[in-house]
Amino acid sequence: MTGAVTVTATMPSEAVLAPFRSTRGSALMLGHVHPDADVLGTLLALGQALQARGWSVTYGGPHPPPAALAFLPGVERYQRLQALDGRFDVAVLTDCPNPQRTEGLIDQTRRAAATIVNIDHHPDNRRYGDVNWIDVSAAATGELVYELLVALGAPLTPPIATNLFTALHTDTGSFRYSNVTPRTFRTAAALVQAGADPAFVSERLYERRGPDALRWLGEALARVEVSDDGRVAWLALPSGAIPEKVIESEELVNYPRSVATVRVACLLREYLGQVKVSLRGKGDVDVQRIAAQFGGGGHPNAAGCTIAGPLAEATRVVLGAVRAALAAAPEAPPAGESKR
Ligand code: AMP
Ligand code: MN
Ligand code: MN
Repeated sequence: MTGAVTVTATMPSEAVLAPFRSTRGSALMLGHVHPDADVLGTLLALGQALQARGWSVTYGGPHPPPAALAFLPGVERYQRLQALDGRFDVAVLTDCPNPQRTEGLIDQTRRAAATIVNIDHHPDNRRYGDVNWIDVSAAATGELVYELLVALGAPLTPPIATNLFTALHTDTGSFRYSNVTPRTFRTAAALVQAGADPAFVSERLYERRGPDALRWLGEALARVEVSDDGRVAWLALPSGAIPEKVIESEELVNYPRSVATVRVACLLREYLGQVKVSLRGKGDVDVQRIAAQFGGGGHPNAAGCTIAGPLAEATRVVLGAVRAALAAAPEAPPAGESKR
């Protein structure tokens, strides 16, 4: 496709719908590193809607889905991709602000696909598609793909509804974060109407711990530290301290965030010689700007980056950047007035 199109409006324009209009085609649904429920749920939902219209669809990305998301309908078709086979009419990336978050698969994708569609809600999206639909007011990419399917007149089957509902559920912290809007609940209501089961999704997400998980969670929580002024809390996990499976299935950064006085929470986990950092804010410090200093990104209140180890040094520099950001920020508003 020549002449990239960028759309920032809330509803999908014709430019966004056009690549999906034909009744037959081939699509690649390409996921980002360490796929979460927003990327998986949206790729699966859109792919399943296309399959229902006779498209052939390939799902995959640089990493396999986490075991905790094995309940997403159709996720068994999502494969770890190393090389791409064949050609595609359309390649779709969702929830992926930076094409490098495909670990290089974007380069093969550009050669293999006629049109790249980029659907996202991250403010730092690089607009790397032939069609870019970026709506930062969406709590999850799941809201956007829901609107896309409605605009296409695609039937919302229970599997599609479950995939999109889970995307909304996880990106909003179970509808608790400040990114939640009336639109989020309208979308969620329509998805439940279409067959998503909230109790089923909650049980799969939060009540499937293994027998040892609570003991590991205790070990992790015992390592949470809070600064003397109470404004920063962090959790630094050396590699091997807690099983990967436990870290993957617990949003550990939410625990330091839950301390009332905390303005910025950090999780730093050592992983294959690098340190993966998760940052969370409560509205007065833009943590995406902190992550960006280390080559990462995200949202104003939820961001991340990966930096070189060792863990103690990474912790020192990240906390230094957090303190600098806090020093530059205006006085914190009273708790409860934050905006994501
Ligand atoms: P996480 O802390 O991994 O749940 O990520 C929170 C947000 O930060 C998500 O929107 C991610 O897309 C973003 N993010 C996390 N890690 C990175 C990274 N290394 N580079 C860019 N964005 C990131
Ligand atoms: Mn994601
Ligand atoms: Mn998302």
